[in-house]
Formats: sequence, structure tokens, C-alpha cells
Amino acid sequence: MRPRATCPGPFPFPHAARLLREGRHIMQDHRKLGRELDLFDSDPLIGAGLPFWMPDGAAARHEVESYLYDLERRNGYRHVYSPGMGRRQMYELSGHLENFAGDMFPPMPVGEDELVLRPSLCPHHAMIFRARGRSYRELPLRIAEMGPMYRAERSGVLGGLSRVRQIALNDAHVFCPPEQAADEVARVLRLMAEAQAALGLRPASVQLSLRGEGRKYGGNDDSWGVSEALLRDALAQAGIEYHEVAGEAAFYGPKIDVQVRDAADREWTIATVQIDFHQPERFGLEYIDRSGSKQRPVMIHRSLVGSMERLFGHLIEVHGGAFPVWYAPVQLAILPISAAQDEAAGDFAAAARGAGLRAEIHHDGSIGARVRKARRIPYIAVIGEKEVHHGQVALRGHDPMPAAAAISLIREIAARRG
Ligand SMILES: [Zn+2]
Repeated sequence: MRPRATCPGPFPFPHAARLLREGRHIMQDHRKLGRELDLFDSDPLIGAGLPFWMPDGAAARHEVESYLYDLERRNGYRHVYSPGMGRRQMYELSGHLENFAGDMFPPMPVGEDELVLRPSLCPHHAMIFRARGRSYRELPLRIAEMGPMYRAERSGVLGGLSRVRQIALNDAHVFCPPEQAADEVARVLRLMAEAQAALGLRPASVQLSLRGEGRKYGGNDDSWGVSEALLRDALAQAGIEYHEVAGEAAFYGPKIDVQVRDAADREWTIATVQIDFHQPERFGLEYIDRSGSKQRPVMIHRSLVGSMERLFGHLIEVHGGAFPVWYAPVQLAILPISAAQDEAAGDFAAAARGAGLRAEIHHDGSIGARVRKARRIPYIAVIGEKEVHHGQVALRGHDPMPAAAAISLIREIAARRG
């Protein structure tokens, strides 16, 4: 989406740019880098497509999740939690079992019930809308959740973070009257651009995904036509160039997909927004309008940056593992030249952590080797005899300064998401 105007591109961050200049950054497969950098791993005993996040990967993901919660809250979203499974009947009602069963795990019999690991959060959010009487005054109602969902991917295609069987999706559903839908979609498109720019992502293209031949779709021609017109209207409002692709729609409606390209030059969808008349009808969703009569809302499905798994698979490749300061797993590496500076290094690390930074002390090896090893860490502070004598620290690329000044410099850059 207008990449040049709204997104700083994949290398807006000084330390990543330095690696690029030094020729160290080659767009590498995230599976190799992720293990090398200790971000995530997997074990056959846990199962294929079920990766676990190591502390460094989890620290970066936690920062990104906090940012997304905050961004959504500031833009009028309310967060909820809903369970990762539900009864079979709910997925019959939603149409998932009819249209999507091939991607779902088989239902599990439990007592009288059959439970289904959810393939999407939509039905739960429709039920949350339905759980209370709704008035037009509450609309648009924006419900968001970073929730788990499941995909019965075949074992042959699983790998790394990009094809997995459990996904944490940055998901939300907006319930509103049809006349508010185009504005809401345009707001979503702007929010996507903001989130993607903050993460240092550059979308490759935007596509309008429409119905195609040979697949089953829910709803009727009228609602498909209206949804399509509303999406086109929103794209025009946001001034976004796009192309149309037949056969890529969701089973319940057309969608706008933001595409990125991976290290193997494959294109895939990182963000999506969809207008749906079909599910509100199936779930019998209603609100009371200004004149006191019952009306049916539309449901807008959206994800700003997709799932945490696919997002990080991509971020690892885009940044070559050298994440921006604000979500770098370690923001500051402290290198004492000899054991005589251990105490000063420990004090500096404690002060940095106390101020909310992620700091580590690196003891082992020559200074040169330690600097090389820490090259993906945004800030490296070498502490020698001279620094201890003057009560200063030397951040690489900066003049020596007092520890407190170094800490506020890094905090300030992290706070403006540099
Ligand atoms: Zn949805």
C-alpha cells in the first residue's frame, strides 16, 4: 500500500543498515537464522508444525504484541479472550465445517459433545456480539483478540514459523451498519500501514480477492456485489493501488489482501480485511437502530499483521535477525574488557534493566570476537579501564558518556519505535 509514501522500507534502522553496508545482510531463510539466533525451535516429540519460542524470540514477540494491543486500544478496539475450541454445532452454523473442513482437525468426541479446535476466531466473536443486546450507539463495535487457532496442515509442508498447526492471529471483527463499512475498512487500511511501517515491513502489493470458479461460497450475489463495492470504495478513500485476483476470496466474502515477498521470492498475504454479510445472517446478529427497530450489522474481519508465527518468520528474514531497537530481544550488549571491569559492567546492566531495557553482559572471548558476535544487537557498550576511571560508558558509534545518558538515549530511540 503506497509503500514509498507510508513505509520507510525494510532497512530504516541504523544497525540493520550497517549490516547491509557490510554485506552481512542477505535475505536468509528464517528457519536457519531463527535457530542460529536462538529465537525458536521445535522437537519431533512435540510434533511437526508446533514450534516453541525461546526466551529471545519470546521477548521480541512480547514487545510486538504489546505494541499491537496498544495501537488497537488507541484506535477504539476492545480486547476479549475466547476459548481455542467450540462445539461442532457452532461450526455447522458458521459454515466452517461445510466449506473449510479440509483444513480443520477432526472433531473430538467428549462425553455427549463433539469439540472442534477452532479454525478461526470469527464464530466466537459473533457469539460475543450476540451475548448482549446491542444498540446503534455501540457501533462500530470493534472486538480484538490475539487468539490461538488451528490448521490441519499436512506434515510434508510444515516448517519453521511459516507453516504451523497452531497460530496466534492478530485478529479483530468490527460490527457496524453497512453504511459505516467503507469508512471502517479505510480506517483498517490506514492502521495496517502504521503497524507495518513500525515493524519495518514493506508490502509488495495490495490485491482485491474475488470469487472464482469451482469453489463453494456462502451468501448471495447481492451481498457479494455490495461487499465488493464497499471494498473498492475504501481502497479509493485510502488512495491505494491494487490489482484484482479471482478465486482468492474467503468463503463468506471478498477481501483486500496485503502481500509481502519472502526470501524464496514467494508472495503471501500478511494482512487482510473482509466484509461479510453472510455470518451475521447465519448467527442472527441484530442491533436496535435509532428508531427502535431491529437491524442486521455487517461483520468486518481484519488482521493488521497476520499471525505472530508468519509475521516473525518474515521479520527475521527482512531484518536478517537485526531487529529494530524497540523489539530487539537484547537491546544493549555490555562488554567489559577484562575482569577488572566486571563490577562496573554489572552495575551498568542492572541500571539498564531497571530502566526497562533488555541488556546482557558478554564475557567470553576477545573484544573483537565479542563485538562480531553481538553485531545484530543494536547497542554495544565496551567498558575498559578508562571508562571506569571517568565513570562513563562507550556505546559503539558514540562518544563516551555517563551510563545514565546512554540509557536514556537507548530508551528514547526504543520509545519512538526506532
Ligand atoms: Zn473473522
